[in-house]
Amino acid sequence: MKNSEIFENNFFSTYYYSNIISNILTGDADTIGFLSNFREYMGSSVFLAYQKESALHHFCRSVIGDFLHEDMTTYDEYDWKCCKLNSYFKFRPYIDSAFSVFELDWSFEEFLDGKSDPEFSDLEEYYEELLITGYFEEVVNRIADEVFYVIFNNRRLMSDFNYLVAGNLELYLDEDSDIDIGSLFTSKGTLKRARIPQWAKDAVFFRDKGKCTICLKDISSLLHSNAERHYDHMVSLAEGGLNDVSNLQLLCRSCNQTKGSKSSPPSLKYFKWY
Ligand SMILES: [Zn+2]
Repeated sequence: MKNSEIFENNFFSTYYYSNIISNILTGDADTIGFLSNFREYMGSSVFLAYQKESALHHFCRSVIGDFLHEDMTTYDEYDWKCCKLNSYFKFRPYIDSAFSVFELDWSFEEFLDGKSDPEFSDLEEYYEELLITGYFEEVVNRIADEVFYVIFNNRRLMSDFNYLVAGNLELYLDEDSDIDIGSLFTSKGTLKRARIPQWAKDAVFFRDKGKCTICLKDISSLLHSNAERHYDHMVSLAEGGLNDVSNLQLLCRSCNQTKGSKSSPPSLKYFKWY
């Protein structure tokens, strides 16, 4: 087993952030703000063909970074005041609990380096330090990996995410980019089909348990050998879908042919654990 196949899952606020992302994608929340943050976050990066650091990873990071920063400053300001009023309580920044859960060896205490009676401005400097050194980003990335692990199983959410970005492909194009746009896009401005790498096929195959997600036929080749596997784009490329692992579902040949090249709702059928 390769080391890169393993990551440690501490489930630090995983469901809290998963729920926020779910609410953004499925609720009535105004998504324009989140999309514009996402665009700013992505800069000139583009999602043209399958990358392990998927579009969904980046979206999670952008949202989590936003909320974590907001929560951190709000809670810390409140806690700071409480601790000043009652010296029995020792102030500890919100993000320090994440550092200790992820066993990352950074803390406000260490930053203060023995300084007694710190000011609020010391805390603000600590925030600056976390941004500059990349410690904040490291925590955001760890949380995003945990959130991805949980929500990737939710095909409806994956489909909602892809619908959200589908209408906004231009978000990810940078005019100054060296990439030969013409070779990657159709004349209608949608993405051309990219070869699906084996890791993406494996991820979708194992998530969907080797069964067609529509008719539930076994296409694992364990029980019979003439099973054809189709990796279907839930939001079709013609409708602005991405070549992203989050946009795929497993189908048998017959269901894929019936569906054609149109987008269709993802299957909500799952196999129970037992
Ligand atoms: Zn089928």
